[in-house]
Amino acid sequence: MTKNQFKQFIGFLLKHNLIIAPQYNAEGYLHLNELKDSNDLYLGTELPLDSWKWYMLPPDQKMFEYKGEKLKETLPQIPKQVFLGVSILDMQALTLLNQVFEKDPYYQEIKKKTIVIGTSLVPEENFYQFFEKFEENKLEHLQFDLFLAVQKSGYKIYSGSEDGQRLLDKFGYKNYQHIEYAGPIREEGLDRQMVEIKDAMQNYHEQKIWDDLDKRCIQCGKCTIACPVCFCFRMYDQADSAKDTGYRSRCWDSCFYNEFTQVAGDSPKDSKHRFMNKTGEKIYFWYEHHFVRTPDTFSLPGCVGCGRCTRTCPADIDIKKTIQNILSARKKMLKKSKNDG
Ligand code: SF4
Ligand code: SF4
Repeated sequence: MTKNQFKQFIGFLLKHNLIIAPQYNAEGYLHLNELKDSNDLYLGTELPLDSWKWYMLPPDQKMFEYKGEKLKETLPQIPKQVFLGVSILDMQALTLLNQVFEKDPYYQEIKKKTIVIGTSLVPEENFYQFFEKFEENKLEHLQFDLFLAVQKSGYKIYSGSEDGQRLLDKFGYKNYQHIEYAGPIREEGLDRQMVEIKDAMQNYHEQKIWDDLDKRCIQCGKCTIACPVCFCFRMYDQADSAKDTGYRSRCWDSCFYNEFTQVAGDSPKDSKHRFMNKTGEKIYFWYEHHFVRTPDTFSLPGCVGCGRCTRTCPADIDIKKTIQNILSARKKMLKKSKNDG
């Protein structure tokens, strides 16, 4: 598709859909917002500060309401939407969320109404280097509707779903290749670096790394909000007993917040018992979630290397440096055990 044809394609999309796309705001920050003018679209290697989970898994979502004994499920009411310009890293994050929320009716209702148009533009923060170079065979394990592989004079177009094909047919574009989705898990499994981080977390624990982070982290939870694959939420109820009505909602939560592991009931020492009291425990738990529990549960990496957590952290905690420290501790301990025979 030439650049000119692509412009026409955006015009066609704008006529029929709500488009969410990366755009710079007046302060010069790249954010995801509704696209109203094709000239505002940013299609480049920089990642927006916010991630697509804002739209797939809204920060606050009503689940059901009741009146008397009658209960009504409140599925999200959204128009058809197009995510335009999803970086290949964020496509990987969405593919993971699709697995996590595979049986969640609220998530699935939004997914049903969403077209994902990805791009091969690889951000500099891509510190695992898995997507350093775009290769066609990586697409079969990602869930998308259309994909734009950037070329000098325009884009090579791939479709990844029937919805994507229908969209191109309606626009009257035929020169595309279809990729059959082969499931999220690659035949070769997790990439080597991810396997090493997991091994280091499980078998080569260096307490100093977590003690250092314990001193620096202020438990603000910003990293969990910025992360495209952090998906923890809590539920809360609102009731009006006079009218016998109410509703239940869910909203994002963070493992850095004190209430996250607080449990009801007395414990001998503290009436408000929590499972994680120390900052170091919380940050370790966060890393464990990304690098051990998610790969164990879904056979997928729990971190896509987007660097948003680093960009947003007020304490300058850099995930790339932490990973380097975790890997060097493993290397050091492996060397020592080899020397010790
Ligand atoms: S780099 Fe940070 S923000 Fe990005 S996926 Fe990994 S943990 Fe989440
Ligand atoms: S953003 Fe930084 S300071 Fe805040 S909770 Fe995350 S690691 Fe800690």
